[in-house]
Amino acid sequence: MTDDVAPVESLDPALRRPLTFSARRRARPPRHLADAALPERGQWAVEAGVPAFRADQLSRHYFGHLTRDATAMTDLPVAGRETLVERLLPALLTEVRTLEADRGATLKTLWELHDGARVESVLMAYPDRITVCISSQAGCGMACPFCATGQMGLTRNLSTAEIVEQVRHAARTSADGALGAPARLSNVVFMGMGEPLANYAAVLGAVRRLVEPVPGGFGLSARSVVVSTVGLVPAVDRLAAEGIPVTLAVSLHAPDDALRDDLIPVNARWKVGELLDAARRYFEATGRRVSIEYALIRDINDQAWRARLLADELNRRGRGWVHVNPIPLNPTPGSMWTASDRAVEAEFVATLTRAGITTTVRDTRGSDIDGACGQLAAQANKGGAR
Ligand code: SAH
Repeated sequence: MTDDVAPVESLDPALRRPLTFSARRRARPPRHLADAALPERGQWAVEAGVPAFRADQLSRHYFGHLTRDATAMTDLPVAGRETLVERLLPALLTEVRTLEADRGATLKTLWELHDGARVESVLMAYPDRITVCISSQAGCGMACPFCATGQMGLTRNLSTAEIVEQVRHAARTSADGALGAPARLSNVVFMGMGEPLANYAAVLGAVRRLVEPVPGGFGLSARSVVVSTVGLVPAVDRLAAEGIPVTLAVSLHAPDDALRDDLIPVNARWKVGELLDAARRYFEATGRRVSIEYALIRDINDQAWRARLLADELNRRGRGWVHVNPIPLNPTPGSMWTASDRAVEAEFVATLTRAGITTTVRDTRGSDIDGACGQLAAQANKGGAR
């Protein structure tokens, strides 16, 4: 299921722009209906001077018709309609640019938030589904050395509505036929910028909006939502207890602590064994098979013995509860690391498969716009970009 995501290293270099001091001091993002569940939205409508049921109508436009265009809301009184929409469905994202890859099947959008912070989302068409990869934070505090966002540090958490708005926009774009024929967005993966479980409350709010039926939310199936984590163990257990069976992806990248300590700094706090135990508990609580993400880095973590160790660690905890997604490393600028040789990758996969573990090499969408992005950002610095 998660063989379809654009890993964060596809992030636009323009994202590395630091926030100014004045931007940091600015207030939280404006309040938006998507920040809350239906009853609270009714309350906000009343505070805005209209009856509570207006919140329900606005919610149907937003989550059902995927629009915040006041002129389309003909069931609302014309007088004050614009103001009401501005107040309850404020614009949260401004498009900076959108790049196309994979002959139009991938659209990567760079967004600016109200305070100048920037995030990215990626919309991807597949024969059987439409997936959007979204950001949960501007930057990231996890500092994984192979990851572009990890090098930026954390700017700030996104609000629930800032996360939901990326999905709403993707769903609208897809419904409008931007990927070819008009199509319904089906899958959402939290694999853009940020560590979702480090912004737990806002991410959980967004997950609820994704799965609640209209007008509460978009009515997506929980199983088509993937939350990907470096492995914040207490938060994994908390997510397991929420009763929303989203798919959990664990960014493991090494089966041994000696190496994982270097690749994923938070491994200093929660070790491979503790993380895999939590992943197994997640499977038991939700019945959802867990995805193990494993970026294959040449001569670093791609040895056959590590594939065997990974298989042993997974099988020791049961059968059929997990699948592995090796991802060819997408090298970040200036990094010494690169993707494994094809033959080494094939051997890694074969070792896991022989051990009875379902293994699918993840498709790296949009790799052809990474280079283009770098060029665009370079042009932007010279004042020549769009
Ligand atoms: N912070 C979360 C979600 C964002 S990263 C997490 O770590 O899971 C989404 C996935 O892309 C993770 O599995 C991450 O390890 C992977 N990734 C990051 N940088 C990468 C790179 N340069 N090449 C390949 N995969 C990468």
